[in-house]
Amino acid sequence: MANCTVPDIPDKNTTGDTLYGGRICDQIFVDWAWPAYKFNSEYWKHGFGFDDVCNTDLPAARMLSAIWLLNYSAEDYMNEDWNSSCLQWACRYVREQVGDLRSMCGDGTYIAYTTGGHIELYLGCFYSKDVPGRAETLMHESRHQGGKPHDANFPSWSGFGAGKSGADSTWDYEGAWMYGALYLWWFYAEGTRTTPAIRELARQRAQYVIDNAFATHPGYVI
Ligand SMILES: [Zn+2]
Repeated sequence: MANCTVPDIPDKNTTGDTLYGGRICDQIFVDWAWPAYKFNSEYWKHGFGFDDVCNTDLPAARMLSAIWLLNYSAEDYMNEDWNSSCLQWACRYVREQVGDLRSMCGDGTYIAYTTGGHIELYLGCFYSKDVPGRAETLMHESRHQGGKPHDANFPSWSGFGAGKSGADSTWDYEGAWMYGALYLWWFYAEGTRTTPAIRELARQRAQYVIDNAFATHPGYVI
């Protein structure tokens, strides 16, 4: 990341990086997850963590942690049936949609961006989001990749920027914001192999998305 200005790294006990970072430091997991989630290796070199995947200061470890969370938080994680809860199938959805996963500095405008068949993840994703929040980003961007663009402007009360584009019209539109929030909600409710504090981070983020990312408030309180 020679050209990036990396911000101060938030406390890794709080963000979940200590817990999940210990788990992803496993060659068998990395060898499976790297191709399964379409990491484009060229974009993870030069300081992004390609050759230092156990280093939770770096983007590669921080995204692998989110992928571990996505895959193993359901009690019976082998069940990825679409008819079960989002906690079960989110890992499969991202795996099937994600194409060409790239790590980049970004200019601070976006956390991540999906365009032309690839997903770009930026510093804001790696360093402003906790581990469940990064899993949310993967779900969000995968939903874009799956063909659902944003279809509304943020409402007047939105912390994402009143009147700006990038919102979803409704929960029932089943767009990127809904997919991300739905996952966090299930992770909060039934997530395993985690801590109550990390589940609470997921609840707070899901509620924030529900309260701010839809032109018509979904009306849910988690
Ligand atoms: Zn989006």
